[in-house]
Order: sequence, then structure tokens, then C-alpha cells
Amino acid sequence: MTEHLRTPPVITIASGVHLPAVGFGTYLISDDEASGAVAAAIDAGYRHVDTAEVYENEAGVGRAINAALGAGLRRDDLFVTTKVFPGNPAAGVAAKTFETTIASLDASLGRLGLDHVDLYLIHAPLTPDERVDQWRALVELREQGKTRAIGVSNFSQVHIEELLAAGLPRPDANQIELHPWSQKQELVDYLRATGISPIAYSSLVPLSTWRAEEGHESAKTSEMQAASEAADSPFASMAAKYGVTEAQVLLRWGVQQGYAVLPKSTNPVRIRQNADLFSFVIDDEDMAAIAGMDRGAGVAWSIGDPTTFA
Ligand code: NDP
Repeated sequence: MTEHLRTPPVITIASGVHLPAVGFGTYLISDDEASGAVAAAIDAGYRHVDTAEVYENEAGVGRAINAALGAGLRRDDLFVTTKVFPGNPAAGVAAKTFETTIASLDASLGRLGLDHVDLYLIHAPLTPDERVDQWRALVELREQGKTRAIGVSNFSQVHIEELLAAGLPRPDANQIELHPWSQKQELVDYLRATGISPIAYSSLVPLSTWRAEEGHESAKTSEMQAASEAADSPFASMAAKYGVTEAQVLLRWGVQQGYAVLPKSTNPVRIRQNADLFSFVIDDEDMAAIAGMDRGAGVAWSIGDPTTFA
């Protein structure tokens, strides 16, 4: 058995910037709940937390982080990501400019109670006319030391090439929906060839419990939900074979692909379980079987997979 697969990996995304491969996701966790959930995650060993301006929980996330720092955790032992919401002109939300993008990170840092984050991302390619200016702002913010690394989220190859064509530095990372049903192999190959780290979100889409709560919307179809609930689910048999849960199989798949993963839960048992990915290895036969399960675009955004947007 390959020994390195048994050690939690740390992914180098830029010079001197190391991303712990298991991060705690906080989308759909309210500001009130966030401090308890993030505290439970830090207690369970997570050292990477993912939030965003648009999640409206940065203050709660920040309270848990600052409590942990007050109790002796070192700031450089923790990796914090947040994202600027770029606006969405198609839905009537004004696009951010260079200046308002700069101001957004200052506001996020204020809510988080931190003087810098480790990774700052443009949340999605929703602003065709302002994307390049927003990226210029992230480059400036890195120079100011307000973020150690910069990246994008939900960007396709075309969106990234637009930034490079403007003569700007490449993103350190691209956070995208990646799981056995949305593998985006061409995009991942491009990211790897370009030196951009893929970070996987919504790893747990194939679970029947994924966003099952009322009001937790997505584009997951009823046909997909039926596949999640099927008694002969391939993930259920793999989970039985390795003596773990289906969630652990899905997250382990991401880690074995070399991605950082960002499981979200408000359940303390699941929070612990989702970080426990290093006592088993998915074998080559099962990895090959999963490679054949791709169903195309992601479903986490109810308006469609943003990597397909113009
Ligand atoms: P996840 O893939 O982390 O799945 C979360 C869902 O699965 C919840 O409904 C949760 O319910 C359930 N769940 C979690 N653990 C288990 C388990 N062990 N067994 C059974 N069910 C479980 O979904 P997300 O879509 O939240 O993605 C993860 C993170 O990625 C987000 O929180 C966010 O940080 C980031 N993200 C980024 C996006 C972007 O556009 N950049 C888009 C979407 C996500 P419960 O809480 O009740 O346990």
C-alpha cells in the first residue's frame, strides 16, 4: 500500500503557501451556527476553513478562529479562504469594480477579525466585462499582504485565458465542483498543465443526504436523487468493502485525485468522520470504476454549472 496516501496531504499552491487537503466548508451554515461548527471542525483537526462574502457567515467563522487563536493555535497553522462576490449583472446585481473588489476584502477581514486571509477567490465568472479588473484587484491585494494566495472559482479554461491574455499573473487555484458525477477531466488537465491547483467543492453530491434539508437548493435532478438512494449504489458497496461511510469514499476519491476537499456539515459526528480519510485507500479497480461514472456538469448552483457560463 502506498504510504503517502495514508498521511493527510498538504498541497503547495504558491511559493511558501501550503493548502491542507481537507478543509471545512461553510456554505449554508448561518452566522449564528458558524462559530460552533467551525469550533467543532478545528477541534476535530481541520486546519483549513472555506467561507465567502456571500455566505453571510464570516463573522461567525471569525469568532471560532479567533477563539482558537486565543487558546494557542498559531495563525500560520490555519488556512483561511474567503471569496469576493463579483456581482451578477444578468440578475441585476451590479458588478464590482477594481476599487469595490479591494474594499470587499477589507470588509471580509473586518468581519473575520483577521489581518489577512490565506486564499482570496473571485467566486464565479458572472461579470464578463469586469472579470479582468477584479483579477487586477486580487493581484494588488496579494501585493498588499492582505492575502497570501489568490485564485478563482468556477472558472473555465476560457475564463482563465482571458486573465492571462491581459498579461496578469495566473491564479494559484481554481475552486470547482468535482466529484464522481462531475469530473471535468479536460479542465483539470488544463489547470494542472498551467500550474493552477484544483480545489474540489460539493464532493458529497452523490449522497442521498446531500442538501436534503428544506430550502437547500441545487440543480440535482430527481433521477440523480433516485441513484443516490438506490440500494445497489456503487459507493455503498465500496463503503462496505473499506469499512467506511459513503461520504468517506467520496472525499477520499477527491484526495486521491490530488484535490483539496471542503466537506460541510453541522453534525459533529459527520464533521469528525469527514476528516478521517487516511486509514484506507481506494484501490485501482474502484478508482477505474469511478472514472467511468461522470455525468457532466455540476449541480451545486441552481442556475447551472458556472464553468459553462460565457
Ligand atoms: P458537501 O459536498 O460538503 O455536502 C454537504 C451536505 O452533505 C450537507 O447536506 C450535509 O448535511 C451532508 N453531509 C455532510 N457530511 C455527511 C456525512 N458524513 N454523511 C451524510 N451526509 C453528510 O456540500 P457543499 O455543497 O456545502 O460543498 C462543500 C463546501 O464547498 C461548501 O460548504 C463551500 O465551502 C464550498 N462550495 C463552494 C462553491 C463555490 O461556488 N465556490 C459552491 C458550493 C460549495 P449536514 O450538514 O446535515 O451534515
